[in-house]
Amino acid sequence: MHTKTLAELAAGLKARDFSSRELVQHFLDRIDRHNGTLNAFVTVCRDRALAAAEKADARLAKGEGGALTGLPVAQKDIFCTRDIKTSCGSRMLDNFPAPYDATVVAKLDAAGTALLGKLNMDEFAMGSSNETSYYGPVKNPWNTGCVPGGSSGGSAAAVAAGLTPAATGTDTGGSIRQPAAFCGITGLKPTYGRVSRWGMIAFASSLDQGGPMARSAEDCALLLGAMAGFDRRDSTSVDEPVPDYRAALENSLEGVKIGLPVEFFADLDSRMAAVLDAAMAEYRRLGAVFEEISLPNIGLSVPAYYVIAPSECSSNLARYDGVRYGYRCENPKDLEDLYMRTRGEGFGAEVKRRILIGTYALSAGYYDAYYLKAQKIRRLIAEDFKRAFRQVDVILGPTTPTPAFGIGEKTGDPLSMYLSDIYTIAVNLAGLPGISIPAGFIDGKPVGLQLIGGYFAEARLLNVAHRFQQVTEWHRKIPEEFA
Ligand code: GLN
Repeated sequence: MHTKTLAELAAGLKARDFSSRELVQHFLDRIDRHNGTLNAFVTVCRDRALAAAEKADARLAKGEGGALTGLPVAQKDIFCTRDIKTSCGSRMLDNFPAPYDATVVAKLDAAGTALLGKLNMDEFAMGSSNETSYYGPVKNPWNTGCVPGGSSGGSAAAVAAGLTPAATGTDTGGSIRQPAAFCGITGLKPTYGRVSRWGMIAFASSLDQGGPMARSAEDCALLLGAMAGFDRRDSTSVDEPVPDYRAALENSLEGVKIGLPVEFFADLDSRMAAVLDAAMAEYRRLGAVFEEISLPNIGLSVPAYYVIAPSECSSNLARYDGVRYGYRCENPKDLEDLYMRTRGEGFGAEVKRRILIGTYALSAGYYDAYYLKAQKIRRLIAEDFKRAFRQVDVILGPTTPTPAFGIGEKTGDPLSMYLSDIYTIAVNLAGLPGISIPAGFIDGKPVGLQLIGGYFAEARLLNVAHRFQQVTEWHRKIPEEFA
């Protein structure tokens, strides 16, 4: 059951080949067996999952239920879950059972899914390797000496190893697409505003976006259909109807124009380039045509992001003061001591580094030089994309510069870590949707292909990804140890 896609499992449930209870129990058993190796789950919600499965079975027995009824899913531990620990990978929230469900959690519950548990992640979603988590690193199922990527590393590893058929992730600068690429699964970062951020713990609010992570584009289409939609509790959620993402999956790619940004291919590693060349050949056979394009300001995206994201995080994380909820230091002497020690002890090194950078960039003397300048660059990058989408339907490139790197390999050098998002970050700055799909292997490690679309072009992206998956087997590969 754990090698099947959500769509296949849904068909099995409908045909009563197995019950939702059996399905959920199967994945709970797999978590028991493999989580010790992978460290992908922070919390397992056994009772809640089995109760949801019983409810789903009752509905299915009556011939009721939708496309997701009875299917197990797992949530990144950044999404608030009522009465269940919601840690965000931090000591600061290690003792925090959320008082309410995030909109994404409520929507997936309402769709009849069973929540298996909460997934490990980089602390407050800051990282590209899952090594900043208070709960320790997650291992990549393809090579347990390597990182699974981050910050949604627990989500990617859990899906790749068959501990859950699907998961949620969040992407501020690449955190859905980069771990999806490193673990050989499919991950979609929707248009900013497509999926509600209510109850999704904030890192950098103008960039954060939740999305689905699963084996296939078809599964991501199923999940996105349930997750997306306007939410009056999120003022940046967009009131745009949610299309049937599955309806467009089979559309022909005849004549579809795919743009290749010269900037993405200029310094690309030759083995990564070979993987992309093979994928492009598949697309040509499917009828797509390629056109070279340019995104001239894209080289500025990493520096602009590392001013904007820390600035927003320094403001968002001001709420963790030891007063209302979360970690509080022992025996504070006075209020100042409470703030200082709570934050000093509750946050890890990467989070502190970002808060320091952000506070500095926003300070009166430097605001214009750093924050304002970065916002202007952000606009230029968005305009580069706008121009490109007048020429082409989608953009193709690598998701990451290399396959998964070793655990500990980049922890001493934050800048080299930041550069692992060099191909994904601009998409967040512009607010566009992007998807990573498995496209090959280098040294036994998966490699991802990234497709970027115009605003609200998720259906098109899923279509282009799905057609590729109909003629390739990369998304079907499963690491031997977890087969
Ligand atoms: N790796 C990037 C960072 O550390 C992006 C993280 C994310 O998308 N949440 O900020």
